[in-house]
Amino acid sequence: MSRAVVLVARPQGEPRESDFEIRDVPDPEPAEGEVLVRNAFVSVDPYMRGRMTGVRTYIAGYELGDVVGGASVGEVVASRDERFDTGDWVSAALGWRELGVAKAGTLRKLDPDAAPPSTALGVLGMPGFTAWVGLGEIGGVEAGETVYVSGAAGAVGSAAAQIARLRGCRVIGSAGSDAKVEWLRSLGVEAFDYREVPAREALADGIDVYFDNVGGDHLEAALGALRPFGRVIACGAISRYNDERPEPGPRNLGYVVSKRLRIQGFIVFDHQPLFPDFLAEASAWVRSGELQYRETIVDGLEHALAAFAGLFHGDNVGKMLVRV
Ligand code: NDP
Repeated sequence: MSRAVVLVARPQGEPRESDFEIRDVPDPEPAEGEVLVRNAFVSVDPYMRGRMTGVRTYIAGYELGDVVGGASVGEVVASRDERFDTGDWVSAALGWRELGVAKAGTLRKLDPDAAPPSTALGVLGMPGFTAWVGLGEIGGVEAGETVYVSGAAGAVGSAAAQIARLRGCRVIGSAGSDAKVEWLRSLGVEAFDYREVPAREALADGIDVYFDNVGGDHLEAALGALRPFGRVIACGAISRYNDERPEPGPRNLGYVVSKRLRIQGFIVFDHQPLFPDFLAEASAWVRSGELQYRETIVDGLEHALAAFAGLFHGDNVGKMLVRV
């Protein structure tokens, strides 16, 4: 038997322990073309909050009784596919469980000598790719522009802030603690703590692009600070994910017209064909030290919910991970 975390109730507001159960489940057996993986790390990501409501958006909601789905990395413990051997490291989508079976075609083999496998869930995985796609494909940022990144010390935000710097931009970043601000400053980001300094004040000089991870007040401040023809890369709005009913939007949306702004949302999964290009560029930056990353690791599958809930309290610096 092995353990898995199952959704048993739809969270109202912030997710609570009682919405989940840890269950012992029988060890799965791989069929032909499948691989048995022992998870080493499972990812907790803000988008999971939307899936917990059960409503289908760009991705299906979780059913009650489902193991919480999501990205994971682990080691192959049995393989019935010639592409994988026991001991291989893979990235998978096995969710919050210790042991799972995956179709071989859904796995990506990792080279643990090239980068720690956990980076496949962060800087060299979906969050890093989100930053790269957002700045390049959606924002089209150019050298010399001023880019504001909210949630700048998080997984996506820290990658976005640094990639924008690598593209020759001036970068302003907001985060919610002194330690986060200090880290961002060490990366060349003009960082401020939004709990101490209102974003409106910090952005008073104006910005060309806003990479939005937070929504709410941050979006409103950014709309005020954007210069004519500025762009909003609408990546996420974590400040609103636990709302029980939608709040009214920014009060100054009129600026979109008067300043001729463009707001473009995106979902990273639509850009999957570009993943190899991202991985080649980002891996080289990580090797050279130009793209730095941090991880906040919570030990024990039984603490997956605490790690997940921690995303909404800023408990993480860089990527939040659960070590299984
Ligand atoms: P993070 O690692 O950034 O973790 C979340 C962070 O958000 C926290 O550490 C906290 O940092 C900040 N935060 C939480 N609540 C608030 C709040 N009320 N106000 C301000 N900041 C808050 O998560 P990710 O990097 O994984 O995701 C960042 C964003 O990107 C999310 O909105 C997510 O939904 C989005 N996303 C979008 C994708 C897409 O395809 N469009 C793909 C992946 C992610 P602090 O201490 O600074 O408050």
